[in-house]
Amino acid sequence: SADEGERPCPTAVRTADGAKISLSINVNDLSDLIGVDHAGIAGIGLLRTEFLMSSAADIANEDRQYGIYRQVLEWAGQKPVTIRLLDLGGDKPVPSADKGDWTSFLGLRGIRLLLARPEILRIQARALLRSAIHGKLKVMLPMVTLPSELERTVTIFREESTLLERCRVNHRIPPIGIMVEVPATALMLDTFGAADFFSFGTNDLAQYLTAAARDNAAVADIYTHAAPAIFRLLAHSLQIAANLETPVSVCGDMAGDPECIPGLLGCGLRHFSLAPVQLVAVRSQIAQFNADGTMAVDK
Ligand code: PEP
Ligand code: MG
Repeated sequence: SADEGERPCPTAVRTADGAKISLSINVNDLSDLIGVDHAGIAGIGLLRTEFLMSSAADIANEDRQYGIYRQVLEWAGQKPVTIRLLDLGGDKPVPSADKGDWTSFLGLRGIRLLLARPEILRIQARALLRSAIHGKLKVMLPMVTLPSELERTVTIFREESTLLERCRVNHRIPPIGIMVEVPATALMLDTFGAADFFSFGTNDLAQYLTAAARDNAAVADIYTHAAPAIFRLLAHSLQIAANLETPVSVCGDMAGDPECIPGLLGCGLRHFSLAPVQLVAVRSQIAQFNADGTMAVDK
């Protein structure tokens, strides 16, 4: 090909016809960063904070959280780091809460649970506000269904910022965006203009679209991380939000599955966040396809 001999910069991944694609990583634990060269990625597209805390005491410990977030931001240097608010509930247990409060995938989960337990949210908000001065932080809300959930969360961040200000604690309010992982949110994306960014959580979209729980072996033949219906929903959702200039990415497992890459490109998606182990395979897949998702033909 014409590009032979030119050493591609690993951060600028390009499709066969030259469209720029950015690849970030999903991080569940600080050990995931071992061996990852931050020069080779666009940033951290999803840090799942629920896996960093193993007890009610950890969740209540603002300084411990601040220390971890700061460490990740410093590791990333000037690359953006998207830290997701605690996505508790559903399959992820909530330390200190009664079991009945959180065991349903359709009940108190993610931002719903945080807004029902604002003392947990306020601690995490303060830790994030303080850590924001150490890098390029973005904050992401899990399981958003209504614009009011975003508004209420932003208000809490502003209130905590005012309190920190009063105590002369150095901090910054980061951009705040949402996970798009509830079908109703994807279909109403144009009503989320207040979000600073969108990231499609295709794992949960798949389970809510197929009505098959992602952790239930009895319906494992129905639940797939790449349900065909997702491609239709993504394409439709992006069309609905076309008038917003909000940056859009995908951070569900589809983004790390080379077989899904052509379809995601075809929907118009250009930013993917995936497990570090999938970077090599996804990078080489992107190079073999055009930006419209068609396979590149060698001339
Ligand atoms: C998703 O739902 O696609 C996602 C990225 O979040 P999680 O897998 O943590 O639910
Ligand atoms: Mg999810």
